[in-house]
Amino acid sequence: MDYQALAELLFPNVTETPDDVQARFPRRQLPEGAVVTRMAPSPTGFVHLGNLVQGMISERMAHQSGGVLFLRVEDTDAKREVPGAVEVLIDSLEHYSIRFDEGATHTGDNGSYGPYRQRQRASIYHVFAKKLVSEGKAYPCFCTEEELTAMREQQEANKENFGYYGKYAIWRDRSIDEIKAQIDAGNPWVLRFKSEGSIENQFKFDDLVKGKLTITENDVDNVLLKSDGIPTYHFAHAVDDELMRTTHVVRGDEWLPSLPFHIQLFKALGFNLPKYVHIGPLMKMDGNSKRKLSKRKDPELALTYYKGEGFPVQAMREYLMTVLNSNFEDWRRANPDAAIEDFKFSPKKLNPAGSLFDYAKLVDVSKNVISRMAAEEVCTLLTQWAMEFDPGFGEKLASDPEFATKILAIGRGGKKPRKDLATWKDAKDYMGFFYDEYLQKPQFDEKFDKAVISDVLNRFLEKFDIADDSGTWFEKVKAITTEIGFTTDMKAYKVDPTAFPGTVADVSTFIRQAVTGKTNSPDLYTVMQILGKDRTVARIRNVIAQL
Ligand code: GLU
Repeated sequence: MDYQALAELLFPNVTETPDDVQARFPRRQLPEGAVVTRMAPSPTGFVHLGNLVQGMISERMAHQSGGVLFLRVEDTDAKREVPGAVEVLIDSLEHYSIRFDEGATHTGDNGSYGPYRQRQRASIYHVFAKKLVSEGKAYPCFCTEEELTAMREQQEANKENFGYYGKYAIWRDRSIDEIKAQIDAGNPWVLRFKSEGSIENQFKFDDLVKGKLTITENDVDNVLLKSDGIPTYHFAHAVDDELMRTTHVVRGDEWLPSLPFHIQLFKALGFNLPKYVHIGPLMKMDGNSKRKLSKRKDPELALTYYKGEGFPVQAMREYLMTVLNSNFEDWRRANPDAAIEDFKFSPKKLNPAGSLFDYAKLVDVSKNVISRMAAEEVCTLLTQWAMEFDPGFGEKLASDPEFATKILAIGRGGKKPRKDLATWKDAKDYMGFFYDEYLQKPQFDEKFDKAVISDVLNRFLEKFDIADDSGTWFEKVKAITTEIGFTTDMKAYKVDPTAFPGTVADVSTFIRQAVTGKTNSPDLYTVMQILGKDRTVARIRNVIAQL
């Protein structure tokens, strides 16, 4: 067979050589050990936690090594494409501080290794397809859908492996005349790889996450170009990652079964094989067993979920790093104030079987992260969130940021900061009472007579002085307690509760409820200081009037 003639027959318009193309994309000038990696999503419009995990891993590996992270859009499957999906992906990842150094952007491509959208690279793939054909490593196949279905049925009946291989690879060794006749008749064809592999042979391979793998050679003549001339993922992966000078491929381990073929393909094309980082799936506990997070069953798989709930970006990153690298938590304990970027991420520490996503742990991490933020930052982030997801509340916060910041400063700083907020969604419940519109009517414990509560509140109003320090303030609360025959001796009360009509805790609760509408609130003295004299007094008077 004259492969050169076949190559000309199949690709008459391709004049460039692989060397020409290679020369357009010189080796990158980067420091030794720099990782060049990419995210290569298909633009389906759904951005999920797995994308963020992959994004964080890739971003860390690239940027902590002085390398490059780029975004390549794998839009070879036009049927699955959703308009605007690339923009949604870029924005979602950017929201989580994952920035690309080059690749597809809102306004086109940025970088010298493009185009970064696969459909725009058709002519490049064809140069390498032609080369493979000219070397006898690829050939056209004219099988129809019906023929392929029949083949599959036969394989199923014979309990054989599926695929186009061995005796099933019926277009493998056809003559150029037969091929020409088909082309002249206008019959569509796909380009197939001519596999030299055998499933009898195995070899060792090192994956950065999975460790040493024993791989069985691929014997299937997989499709490289579909009948419209657009490549399959496999072929595009090899050509793009070679020309974009990718050093590390970080991707989901659902691609592991294709790895034998990819290795074969890189070799056949004379390309350098990148290093592979195959990440396991995200899983959750479902009853007593683990299962993969599912788009259908688990709303928490979608990234929009976390934004809506109001988990701060920093909390998500911090939590995911906890899940991804088992030594991160120790590092964080030793470096509580360091930037997350100072942690040295290692793909070798990923759990090869996948990571367990634990919502309760995320909540915990988020509480810690928020408790360590300055009040000003909390105010800014909370306001931003509320403006989008609870605009009424957002307007209130934004109308007086100084007031909101004072509220959010309560119990902040020091060794044991308060941990009231896990998400921004928690904030309204926690601090809403500071705003009259959200103040609820108190529900006093019915075991106390309304007259007693009213008496307490009136006495408090008589004694209340906004200028008091917290010690004096509390002395006054204690004085009221004694005046009405309640006790300030909590120990004695514990020993015999029936001996007292109530305690200083009850008195505080009456006042707290009158001022905040709730039985639980941050430090009441501070609350009053922030509300100011007039509002505090007005609230208490209002409650007395309604008793
Ligand atoms: N387009 C592939 C996907 O979305 C990319 C896999 C890869 O990163 O190579 O799964």
